[in-house]
Amino acid sequence: MADLISECAWCNKVKTPAGWKGETQALRALGVDNSATSRTQNRTHGICPACAAMLKMQWYSLGLIPAAPACN
Ligand SMILES: [Zn+2]
Repeated sequence: MADLISECAWCNKVKTPAGWKGETQALRALGVDNSATSRTQNRTHGICPACAAMLKMQWYSLGLIPAAPACN
């Protein structure tokens, strides 16, 4: 049974032990063949560090999250 493949929901990069890579490169690194079946099965959506950082900046600028942790 294959492991779940984490795919960034924003930029579609795929997580590998060597970091987040473009899909074709990542599937090759993971030893998964790039067939229609393997492209759709065992996928879970996540977010890569680059997109996480970008979203966080957007949320700051939109005021959706406080600029600094609340300090009581
Ligand atoms: Zn991403």
